Amino acid sequence: MISLDEALKSLKNAIPENAQTKECSLSEALGHVTASDIIAPSSLPRFTNTGVDGYAFCHEDERDVYTLVGASYAGEPYRAKIKAGEAARIATGAVLPEGADTVVMQEYCKVEGDQLYLDPVPPQGAHLRHSGADIAEGDIALPNNKKLTAQDIALLGALGIKKVTVKRPLRIAVASTGLELEAADEGQGDTGSKGGKIIDTNTLMLTQMLKGCGIEVEQARALPDDYEQTATAFKTLCQRHDIIVTTGGVSVGDRDFVRDVLHEQAEVIFWKIAIRPGKPVLVARMGETIIVGLPGNPVSAFVTSYLIVRAVIRCLNGEIVELPDGFPVPLATSISKPEHLRCFLRARYEGGKVTAYHDQSSNLYSSLTQANGLIDLPVGKSSAEKGETVIFRPFSLFS
Ligand code: AMP
Ligand code: MG
Repeated sequence: MISLDEALKSLKNAIPENAQTKECSLSEALGHVTASDIIAPSSLPRFTNTGVDGYAFCHEDERDVYTLVGASYAGEPYRAKIKAGEAARIATGAVLPEGADTVVMQEYCKVEGDQLYLDPVPPQGAHLRHSGADIAEGDIALPNNKKLTAQDIALLGALGIKKVTVKRPLRIAVASTGLELEAADEGQGDTGSKGGKIIDTNTLMLTQMLKGCGIEVEQARALPDDYEQTATAFKTLCQRHDIIVTTGGVSVGDRDFVRDVLHEQAEVIFWKIAIRPGKPVLVARMGETIIVGLPGNPVSAFVTSYLIVRAVIRCLNGEIVELPDGFPVPLATSISKPEHLRCFLRARYEGGKVTAYHDQSSNLYSSLTQANGLIDLPVGKSSAEKGETVIFRPFSLFS
């Protein structure tokens, strides 16, 4: 068994960045990853303007009275030049008139007829937003390998950019395995114990986790516990997908055929990590495709997709491969754990402290819905006491 850190390092070494790109409009760009540095074709702000409502004037020592000659409003600039001793009304965001170099807030002025009295006189250059102070033409507006957020898209739009070159979205297939499974949308409504059927929730959950992250997700047919059918399905899915995520069939049971097929027909990157939950997770490469075999229990599938599927996606996207950010918090109750495993405990952070769910069995859906993140406890520790500081990693999307 390798450590989680070693597993992440081996993913980084084994998985090359996706080099294919496409162009998309800004409205389609959310969650996509930039394929190069994006250079600003113009400056922001586009023109020097003011951050307050007030009066624009040319600063002169000693003078505190100016003559009003016009106004500059947003979208309707003052066209003439401000001369010595003159001032123009100016609204937030409006173009600074030529000749002016300072703005006074209207709260510090008195107007009588066309005379403007300043008290106090602001320092020269006050309240200006200079052209290019945000981004100058030719600057790197956004770096390569940046997953685009709503704010990034606003910045690109402000620069007048209409289309952006991004990495081709990753194509991921999600497939569950197990004869016991019944598709969530096809169930007969028979919730009894006849035949031992259960609802396939992993496909449902993983598909939702991946959605909205600039990823194309295909929900593949559930695979029966059968060697040949599993092998054939992998070969077919490999042709169209960058990643195949399966759940179940990777542990040490007689019918864990994902494990057998990947060991015999693919190149295993690792099998088994010293973590709980999710120890049997297996990552392999078949041709160009990365196959991530997650354990079947819903909690294990959730936690390992949070730790490992996310890391595989980041490798292919050329992003930094690290765990979702955590922060130190005090424990509300004492907890124990096996010393030789790094444990990720479902927990709820609230009111400045974190409480681990009382039962950490990996089949409990309620533990996942009541938690809002994971406590990350290292190898070498067998307990953590009430009041002790632990690392808490809040649940986040794959972004
Ligand atoms: P396995 O790793 O295949 O032995 O699966 C472990 C357990 O996880 C199974 O006994 C099922 O109870 C559960 N399980 C496996 N696959 C799914 C799935 N797709 N949805 C919900 N539960 C599952
Ligand atoms: Mg199974």
